[in-house]
Amino acid sequence: MTEDSTLERCKSCQNNRATHICEDCGMVLCSDCLDNRSNEYIVCGNCHHSLGEPIPGEKFERCPECESENLTKGRRTVDICPTCHSSRVEILEDKRRKLALEMRHSIMNIQYGHTKLREFNNKLTVTKRLLVSLRMANFLHYRWLEEKIEAIQEELPALKNRIGNQAEIVARRMAAETKNFVDYTRWNPSQFPFIEGITNRITELGIYYKQNVDEALEPLRITLKEVKRQLDGLEYYKNQFTDFYDNAQLAVGELPVCALPDVKVNGSDFLKNDKAIGTLYVTNKRLLLIAETGRVRRKMEVIFDFPLIYLKSLEEDGRLRKRLVLKLKQGDVRISCSDQTKKVLPDYIEIARKFERYIQTDMKRVRKLEQEEMSISDVRLKIEGMVYSLLSPNSKHDEPRPVDTRFERPPQQWPHPRYQTGNVPFGAGYATPDSFRDELERTLGRQSEPNRDYNPQYRPQVSIDALQRDAESIRQALRETVHLLRDGRLVTEDFIRRYKDLMRDSYHNRRELERQSRDTRDRLR
Ligand SMILES: [Zn+2]
Ligand SMILES: [Zn+2]
Ligand SMILES: [Zn+2]
Repeated sequence: MTEDSTLERCKSCQNNRATHICEDCGMVLCSDCLDNRSNEYIVCGNCHHSLGEPIPGEKFERCPECESENLTKGRRTVDICPTCHSSRVEILEDKRRKLALEMRHSIMNIQYGHTKLREFNNKLTVTKRLLVSLRMANFLHYRWLEEKIEAIQEELPALKNRIGNQAEIVARRMAAETKNFVDYTRWNPSQFPFIEGITNRITELGIYYKQNVDEALEPLRITLKEVKRQLDGLEYYKNQFTDFYDNAQLAVGELPVCALPDVKVNGSDFLKNDKAIGTLYVTNKRLLLIAETGRVRRKMEVIFDFPLIYLKSLEEDGRLRKRLVLKLKQGDVRISCSDQTKKVLPDYIEIARKFERYIQTDMKRVRKLEQEEMSISDVRLKIEGMVYSLLSPNSKHDEPRPVDTRFERPPQQWPHPRYQTGNVPFGAGYATPDSFRDELERTLGRQSEPNRDYNPQYRPQVSIDALQRDAESIRQALRETVHLLRDGRLVTEDFIRRYKDLMRDSYHNRRELERQSRDTRDRLR
């Protein structure tokens, strides 16, 4: 490669450096050799809206934006390719940068893997918190909720592996495509169409990867959604029950089942007050209706309160669709309610009668779920490592770069020798980007010395040792990230994203460390 292959000469004068490229015929030109055409165009004198060139024979009357008739003429010069007379002439550097940006974006599609994993993991955490808060509030419905979440948690490590491994396969194919084309400053204009082809193929690989990630996540997403929907229902009842506690109390061993609003009492054989609208509360022992009563001074009042065993049956009133009759030992209570309530009430009464069968009594199991926090930082670091290795110009083909002496070491020495991946056992699977880069570059024959076998490990349960090692590698990664920015190898937006991610990891790591050391202390006590 010559010292400056990118310093193309103008194809027209063969003398000056080319600064422009024609999008249509690919000709590279210097600004002297460009033709230009001066175009007349009309601009609104009021709002400066450009109306463009009038078609011959046509005349603009007023501005379409502000209706002003104050139109003025302007002239602008358009560059024209002297060969094909196209006006699609671009500045060479802009074109190069645009192509580089497109390639970059197509490579970054593999970040979809950990982005979606993180989204899912966040949803899982939120769902677990909701579950725990409901259990703590004595909403113990449906043991299967814990079972489903446990099943998700059991699947996650394999899923993480799958998403990480697929990213690796795709990254390898991307690397094969971009081999020798990573450093965009070396792209020759004659290679531009070829580079567009590479970007197209990488984009396809990205789409293929995204589909794979979605497919892998879909079953777990469906399960989680089902759990969440059920929990949202319980949460609704829990909120309804705040009114209950203001006016009544649960007995020992009594548990809330559901609360159905807007239930109207429409007469009864024996109730004193048989006209009211309120909320019907069902517990595993009782049936209560609490309503607002009183014309002058409104107050909440318990309209009826029966043991569940007094309820003989629940019958539909033959004449009116929305009416139900509660057949009790003492007599009848007629109620009317929404279709939805009418539909679910018999089921809930069934559930309430056999509540023991449905409830979660194993609080240890619930707490355990809460504590088992999944980390996806291993997959994220692995994929980010791939992205950075795909985006970094490969060092073997680089000519020596001037080393900025303001920094302690040249960028090629990333990571710091002391933390070379071979020396640090990354116990918790906190693999650094470099382990992947080493592997990738070895595969591509860029690096002759193999460092170690890359062996990603994902462990949901991590020891304190592993966490401390993680903490050290997070600190190291933070330092490296700052260096990368200073070396100009990381654009600001990537820096911010990466830095934020690392800070979040650091926070979770510290929290986990605190929790584990507390647990250990408790155990020793
Ligand atoms: Zn020229
Ligand atoms: Zn042209
Ligand atoms: Zn205007």
